[in-house]
Amino acid sequence: MRTHELIRTIDAALAHLEGCADELRDLDAALGDGDLGITVTSGCRAVRDALGELADGVLPAQVLKTAGGAFARANPSTMAALVGGALLAAARELGDAAELDRDAALAVGRAAAESISTRGKAQVGDKTILDALVPSLDAMAAAPDAPLASGIEAAREAVERTRSLQSMRGRASWLGERSKGLQDPGATAYLRLLEGLDEASKGVTK
Ligand SMILES: [Mg+2]
Repeated sequence: MRTHELIRTIDAALAHLEGCADELRDLDAALGDGDLGITVTSGCRAVRDALGELADGVLPAQVLKTAGGAFARANPSTMAALVGGALLAAARELGDAAELDRDAALAVGRAAAESISTRGKAQVGDKTILDALVPSLDAMAAAPDAPLASGIEAAREAVERTRSLQSMRGRASWLGERSKGLQDPGATAYLRLLEGLDEASKGVTK
């Protein structure tokens, strides 16, 4: 995917994610403070505005770097900082590649997961976005013919599995055992982003 197509795809995917803000707010309110709705709304808005102002012909890495900066600056939450940092790490991973192909997209996803794990001091199993992100990347790597569909299926199952986990990071961890039974909002946000990317890529290739 080249830059112009990448920006159009991200814009449409973020429009979808913005539409899920109420769901994410409610899931986050059950486990913590409910600020994920605002983080997603303000972050998506800021990214879409910033990408709309990018000059023609910039590299895909610049798109991710711009998106990361805009998302992080839009809102002072921990999630905004983690997503911003993940996108900057993804941009560094991409380097001066002219296109975002399947292998590059996977490497970008891995770099983002690594950044979130390191900066958020979180592992798979801690009931965070990583619990959907990591298994979906594994599924994408294992299904070269239909990576996005496989990634979405794995993320959907993973989001369901977060219900059985106890929150170990962030405000949700204050709930302790009572966090069990509730669906993780961060993992759900990632699933909604993937669904948005899927819808968007179908629209773009039409
Ligand atoms: Mg929150």
